[in-house]
Amino acid sequence: MKIHICADMEGTCGVYSWMQVTPPETPWGGPIKEAEYDRCRSRMTAEVSAAARGVFANGATEVLVNDFHGGNRNILIDELDERCRLVSGGAGPMNFLQGMTPDTKGLLFTGFHSKAGTVSSALAHTWSTNLNDLRIGGESTGEFGLIAYCAGALGVPVLLVTGDQTACDQTEAFLGRPVVKAVVKEGISQTGAISMHPRRAQSLIEEKAAEAMSLVGAVEPTILPGNARVELDYDHQTRAEAAERQTGVERVLKANDIDMRGSVLYDGSGLSRENEMSPQLLVDVIRWAVSDDQPGLRAVVSSLPVAGFTGSLSDRFDQGAPEGPGRVRAKTGTLTGVTSLAGIAVDLDGSLLVFAMIADQVKPNRSGLAQVAMDNAASALGACHCAR
Ligand SMILES: [Zn+2]
Repeated sequence: MKIHICADMEGTCGVYSWMQVTPPETPWGGPIKEAEYDRCRSRMTAEVSAAARGVFANGATEVLVNDFHGGNRNILIDELDERCRLVSGGAGPMNFLQGMTPDTKGLLFTGFHSKAGTVSSALAHTWSTNLNDLRIGGESTGEFGLIAYCAGALGVPVLLVTGDQTACDQTEAFLGRPVVKAVVKEGISQTGAISMHPRRAQSLIEEKAAEAMSLVGAVEPTILPGNARVELDYDHQTRAEAAERQTGVERVLKANDIDMRGSVLYDGSGLSRENEMSPQLLVDVIRWAVSDDQPGLRAVVSSLPVAGFTGSLSDRFDQGAPEGPGRVRAKTGTLTGVTSLAGIAVDLDGSLLVFAMIADQVKPNRSGLAQVAMDNAASALGACHCAR
């Protein structure tokens, strides 16, 4: 019998501060104290192992653990119950349910925390600390609700939740039917809690996980109602605007048959490292913008800087094919370690060529070289008879 565990960290016994759950390479820039974090990794792992022991003792034959806190690299595999398999690292397409199959009999939530907006509950949040609320079908919920719906789509019900009192109560209220709870602490503030001893917490989790197996076949999966509206309340309007831009861009590209596979639009701004664009996507977008049926977009392309003459390209393009400058219009894209250039070139026969070049992980002392190489390549397009 297969059981899946979604393991978060904030609801672990003895955890009450962001410092304890923030990995050293954190992208969100919280306070870092590695010794504290390491201790909590160990305790998180012990709680997951305790849950696994409980279900193995009562009929489970396979346990797949999904580490989904932060960068998904918190659980210490050497310390994990050796019968478990562990999903960790960069998220797969199914994210926190990666590896779950429809023959999985139940889902356990360990280390769970309360939803955003909950007062007096340690580290309450929903996904990021920038969301004030998430509502699905009009009902305010947290990570527990979203994950329960996703598992429900595979026919898998939630059997157990471990974490602080409020997180367990909110999960039970959301599910609207019995779920076994292992309360390992009580929140007293956003960064404070009263915890039991971690070893007591682990025994409790083991006992409750064993008890949760009695719900297999007795409770239904949580099914997302049809046409449920998903509403997000952000803490600032700029985030809402960014989210809106992102879906707007995706909608327009999709409507025009531009394939976004392999690309990730993170915030629609182009300034975050979380955005991942393929050169092919850029070429497709520019080709679409210069096509005859998009007269409104042509101006966007024709107003790009002219190589060697205007804007960000005025002091460049002095080393390549001499016919190139003036025949190339392009947009630069620069982040630390990233050099890129995308635009159009009109070749010597007057044919319009579209190009995109991206170099990643360029060493700081070589970014100038990457830039010159791209300028020369673009110049060569302007100086060629490529379409002949
Ligand atoms: Zn987390």
